[in-house]
Amino acid sequence: MQTDASLRVLRHPRVFALGDISVSSGGREQPALPATAQVAFQQADYVAWNLWAAINAKPMLSFSYQHLGDMMSLGTTSGAVTLPIPVPPQLSAAVQAAGPLGQLLKAAGVKLSGSYGGGADGVTLEGPLAAAVRRAAYLYRQPTLEQQLRVAGGWAQSASRQLREVLGEAAGRGK
Ligand SMILES: Cc1cc2nc3c(=O)[nH]c(=O)nc-3n(C[C@H](O)[C@H](O)[C@H](O)COP(=O)(O)OP(=O)(O)OC[C@H]3O[C@@H](n4cnc5c(N)ncnc54)[C@H](O)[C@@H]3O)c2cc1C
Repeated sequence: MQTDASLRVLRHPRVFALGDISVSSGGREQPALPATAQVAFQQADYVAWNLWAAINAKPMLSFSYQHLGDMMSLGTTSGAVTLPIPVPPQLSAAVQAAGPLGQLLKAAGVKLSGSYGGGADGVTLEGPLAAAVRRAAYLYRQPTLEQQLRVAGGWAQSASRQLREVLGEAAGRGK
């Protein structure tokens, strides 16, 4: 559904659309947005506010997307995270130079890119650190404590099942 900047469906002023089903009519300053949960999540606040504003004849807000980065899991204990955090070129160069800090960050799976200019990713995490950061971010974004506990409990159950399987296989090989 094509929407205007306030996420109202074009030619249907009483209908708003967000998430995967919505396509912003955009304009040169507003490129097409990806069909991701991050976009849907941010649009939800605007649609809620604009619905209230439409009902109460108040001015509506134009949706503005703020990219917070990308995260993905790679197996159960590894992942990749990119964060659009500006990194001063001097800091990036200093970290890349051989030295204890550079070695430490490399071992932890942290990369800094000094070429950040609004579109590129400034900080990249890889490996177990990225997996941990991804899970922490998912937990943090759960709307209620109950959901946080349920999600964490699900992960703990899954980890314990996998551990039992690994130990069972190891015991089987030892016989
Ligand atoms: C495999 C996969 C992996 C993904 N991974 C990521 C990721 O890592 N990060 C990320 O940001 N995004 C990811 N996405 C995209 C993300 O899931 C979507 O962008 C996001 O869920 C969109 O939210 P939404 O509310 O628009 O739609 P949905 O989450 O699809 O919600 C729509 C809801 O409406 C319900 N519905 C449909 N028709 C009707 C009807 N007629 N009546 C009543 N209810 C109805 C559906 O059952 C559904 O619950 C992934 C998508 C897929 C498929």
